[in-house]
Amino acid sequence: MREFKPPRKSFIYYYVIVMVAIMLLNVFVFPRILQPRVTEVPYNQFLNMLEKGEVSEVSRDDVQILFADKEEPPKLYKTGPMDDPALLEKMHTAGIKFYSPIVEPASPIMTFLLSWIVPIGIFMLLGRLLGNRLSKMGSMNAMQLGKSNAKIYIESETGTSFDDVAGQEEAKEALSEVVDFLHNPKKYTEVGAIMPKGVLLVGPPGTGKTLLAKAVAGEAKVPFFSISGSEFVEMFVGMGAAKVRDLFKQANEKAPCIVFIDEIDTIGKRRESGAGFGGNDEREQTLNQLLSEMDGFDASKGVMILAATNRPEILDPALTRPGRFDRRIPVELPDLPGRVAILKVHAKKVRLAPDVDLERAARAAAGASGADLANLINEAALRAVRHNRKTVTQEDLEESIDVIVAGHQKKDRVMSDREKKIVAYHEVGHAMVAALQAGSAPVHKITIIPRTSGALGFTMQVEEEERYLMSKEDIENRISSITGGRAAEELVFNSITTGAANDIEQATKLARAMVTRYGMVDEFGMVAFDQQQSQYLGGGFTTNCSSETQGKIDALTVQIVREQYDKAYQALKDNERKLHEIAQVLYEQETLTGEQFMEILGSPANLPEAQPAIEV
Ligand code: ADP
Ligand code: MG
Ligand code: ZN
Repeated sequence: MREFKPPRKSFIYYYVIVMVAIMLLNVFVFPRILQPRVTEVPYNQFLNMLEKGEVSEVSRDDVQILFADKEEPPKLYKTGPMDDPALLEKMHTAGIKFYSPIVEPASPIMTFLLSWIVPIGIFMLLGRLLGNRLSKMGSMNAMQLGKSNAKIYIESETGTSFDDVAGQEEAKEALSEVVDFLHNPKKYTEVGAIMPKGVLLVGPPGTGKTLLAKAVAGEAKVPFFSISGSEFVEMFVGMGAAKVRDLFKQANEKAPCIVFIDEIDTIGKRRESGAGFGGNDEREQTLNQLLSEMDGFDASKGVMILAATNRPEILDPALTRPGRFDRRIPVELPDLPGRVAILKVHAKKVRLAPDVDLERAARAAAGASGADLANLINEAALRAVRHNRKTVTQEDLEESIDVIVAGHQKKDRVMSDREKKIVAYHEVGHAMVAALQAGSAPVHKITIIPRTSGALGFTMQVEEEERYLMSKEDIENRISSITGGRAAEELVFNSITTGAANDIEQATKLARAMVTRYGMVDEFGMVAFDQQQSQYLGGGFTTNCSSETQGKIDALTVQIVREQYDKAYQALKDNERKLHEIAQVLYEQETLTGEQFMEILGSPANLPEAQPAIEV
């Protein structure tokens, strides 16, 4: 990535390099230049050389005698002065010159240059650079306010191509049309087709929107201006708008080209209708400038604007109307084949053991984004290094999925024996209720190794194939297996613990969604009371209903969870012997794979009651 202006970071590096260079010069180079090499010799050697006639010149002061021999160039020696009255006589008879000083420490001009002019020059240079930056930041010079300090990137070679983006086939196809248009606008204008001016990539975080834009840059082989929305947000009013102006001016000069605005929601937020004084003037001005620039340029000239956001719902409607960002490309979370493909792309960067099954890993990582999967491979590689292995094994992958799902294993956490038993029963409760129901996702793994996230254990279920729809029964079964943990605790220990807090939250969420969003209770039918605030980021809901309805919603939610809890409790009670058996094994081994679990469970038949296998 090449830039027009040096970024602050490299400026600091520059500063550091200059300082180090000056220090090195001072220590190693200047002394050599300034002071010729002088050999220290004993006084008698000086006398010896004097008698042999090897000395050409002598200079003496109170602390030392400096002398030179007759070689060419003369070598310099020094020795301590002695109380030697005969010395003057000896030198006189030898006929050598003696005066002081014979060795000038250095040429005065040289000294002056090195100790004064050079450092001052360097500091003046630094000062200028610093001054430039400050005034570019707009704080020094009001005259420069109109000028933008836009940090506009031109990608030369990103080295990213569509091959690096896996599992986003639709998005890639839509974008290759854009690339094709930029290469070959005539083909489109001949038919009379008008390419959209703006293309908006929308999708949850980490799905590869930024990566896709980079890939477009790599494929298009036209100039690619890239800027992040947050870079428009400036301290001074008017600066953001100036940046937009500058960006489009440069883009127009370079057409055909692509302008990419990442995280466009930072500037593209919906303007408030009745904004009073001030309001968020700066952002609004920036947005207005962007809108007018988009209207201003001629699409046939070949400037294509790409933007990415994970919050399309907050964008100003003016941005998304036809003639601006009228093409919307969804970049969704990857499905199973997509996840396998993404894992493959990233697995190329690490050395995998030959028996690694990426598909199994992809299956377990349901709901993961591309960024999560990239992280997963990296975590696995780090784990391999920690264990001094040269290749990444399936075990590394599985463990790093657990890390991403539930946090790192907490090795130093010591659970009391009773706690460990409770957790074992709790987890087996989840797993058994799930396994005893038809249509539940198979159990993939049960573990009671505590996690740094605070989880004391977890049960992981993995769907055999991707699911896009859930029936009412599916959700009910899900709630039932979520409550199965608490049900097992109550059944075996006849007491309940705080360990189910997270389960309770999840069960409540699902039950409430059945009532308020999925229209799954007869009472209300197809009426939605909750609306999700953000399509891609999940999170909050806004509820729209009377307080009377609110009461009913709560009552129905409670009822659903209670029914499912009772169902789970009954299922565990009917299979209590198996519950004890599996909990015992889990307690001893701490981790069970899905296969081990199913082997012990056998076919879910109703088995006769038995005594608890674990004393508690
Ligand atoms: P976004 O901009 O959608 O939030 P990014 O494009 O920044 O996500 O993705 C972050 C990282 O995740 C990428 O650098 C890449 O390593 C990985 N990644 C995400 N999606 C994919 C994908 N579809 N194929 C390969 N890698 C991906
Ligand atoms: Mg991004
Ligand atoms: Zn639980």
